[in-house]
Amino acid sequence: MSHPNTTDPVGTYVTGQEFKMLIGGKFVGGSDGQTSTVVNPSTGADIGEVPVATAKDVQNAVAAASLAQPAWEALGVAGRAKCFDKFRTLVKENRERLAMLDAIDCGNPVNGMRRDIDNCDDSLDGYPAMAKAMTGSVYPGDGNRLHYSAHRAYGVVGRINAFNHPALFAICRALPALITGNTVVMKPSEETALSTLAAGELFTEAFPPGVVNIVTGGAAVGDGIVTHPSIKRLGFVGSVPTGLLIQKRGAESGHVKHFSLELGGKNAMVVFPDVDLDEVVKGAIHGMNMTTNAGQACGSNSRVVVHARIYDEFVTRLARALGNYRMGVAYIDETDIGPLVSHRHWSRVMGCVQAGVEDGATLVRGGGRPAGLPEGGFYLEPTLFADVTPKMRIAREEIFGPVMSVFRWDDYDDMLHLVNDIDFGLTASVWTNDLTVAHRTADAIQAGYVWINDSTRHFFGTPFGGWKDSGLGREDSKDEVMSYLEQKVVHARFGDMKASLGRVLR
Ligand code: NAD
Repeated sequence: MSHPNTTDPVGTYVTGQEFKMLIGGKFVGGSDGQTSTVVNPSTGADIGEVPVATAKDVQNAVAAASLAQPAWEALGVAGRAKCFDKFRTLVKENRERLAMLDAIDCGNPVNGMRRDIDNCDDSLDGYPAMAKAMTGSVYPGDGNRLHYSAHRAYGVVGRINAFNHPALFAICRALPALITGNTVVMKPSEETALSTLAAGELFTEAFPPGVVNIVTGGAAVGDGIVTHPSIKRLGFVGSVPTGLLIQKRGAESGHVKHFSLELGGKNAMVVFPDVDLDEVVKGAIHGMNMTTNAGQACGSNSRVVVHARIYDEFVTRLARALGNYRMGVAYIDETDIGPLVSHRHWSRVMGCVQAGVEDGATLVRGGGRPAGLPEGGFYLEPTLFADVTPKMRIAREEIFGPVMSVFRWDDYDDMLHLVNDIDFGLTASVWTNDLTVAHRTADAIQAGYVWINDSTRHFFGTPFGGWKDSGLGREDSKDEVMSYLEQKVVHARFGDMKASLGRVLR
């Protein structure tokens, strides 16, 4: 069903609607009736309730997924791809509803969330294509033997997601697990469950019951998934501390588990003095994902490292450009930058801004609430710090908000040291018109994904993931599809040919 744009999105998409978990093809509330309140970050108002799963609900979801798995795997890639086709159509038809739910629930501007839904299309199309093209290997034997590899699904896969691209994560992050024959138990962030629960309705239309299960709640529900003995493989998107805890809790469950961890970043944008400044300023703002989620993105270039020769002019132009965006209620088309996701997160980001000032960085613009917006909303102006030095808290911590720090460099080796002397290693970008400088610098930066003269854009098929504490494993790629499969090598010994032939021709 398609959903028209309206002048009262909260009334249309949330008020009076029921948002239920999905277990074994049925829409259910938490078995003890517990719910949590949905807060609208644009106004601070309570606008609804979502279920909180009990430990029993998690058990039921895993049981339903286990029951559905053999038949799902037996469908083969072609059979499973047919469900993907149907789901892809449903996602397109429900674009407006999913985007509006994210804007209302998460505070990301609705235009950015429409882009997110559109971006899902590559994954919905691409993962089946990758799975269909998958091959195994044959290993040379000694003349009497043949070895070949085969792959099988793990069984039930756990998927735990972060708050910042809720619908995109709900739609896309389970796909590589599903196309390879696994069934899934998925949990969205407790801050932003609405679009995932709405996506549950589309999953039930397109996939057999129990193939996709959705439970909602916070850390306890996530822990129930991580430690469940039937879940051998878990995909996680979230912060470094939670990622570390998940590794620990997985081990404490007494079972060896396979994790992919897409974690935080403190990403550097390195600017050489030979660039077109206006283009780089545009790239810096785009790279902060300001108009997608107010900088609340893992890949944001929150550290901008600019050569001394152009530093002052760059800071002036960046400050001016940051003033050109309209902040506002997220579910209004005219809004460029929305609020942060929650009051708790807003307070944490404000604490980082305070730390920047106390540590002696120059607050060039922003740092406070913009005027003229709903009082209760969690708004923070795009904030720019200059004269940031490596030991400052804003230089080292992932802020996850609309806060940019600009560093000055003039010695190449010192600059590289600054860029790499950090525990994160997710993304980076290099801006120069010199090919040698660009590629050599990209090579020297310790990060999993480096842009040259670009930022933020992902291209389906290119592996995305972090070095160092930024993660484990790769997404969006063939590597990710393979990571949802157990490998098996079959070692076949041939018998004695003379004896066999004698039997066959007898
Ligand atoms: P978070 O770590 O607080 O929560 C992520 C998810 O983990 C939520 O669903 C949460 O309920 C769950 N969770 C919390 N404690 C848990 C526990 N003990 N066991 C199991 N699950 C638990 O992260 P967040 O605030 O939702 O998201 C922001 C973080 O996510 C940032 O650090 C950001 O960089 C990162 N992120 C990374 C990527 C990437 O691709 N690398 C993408 C998006 C976000």
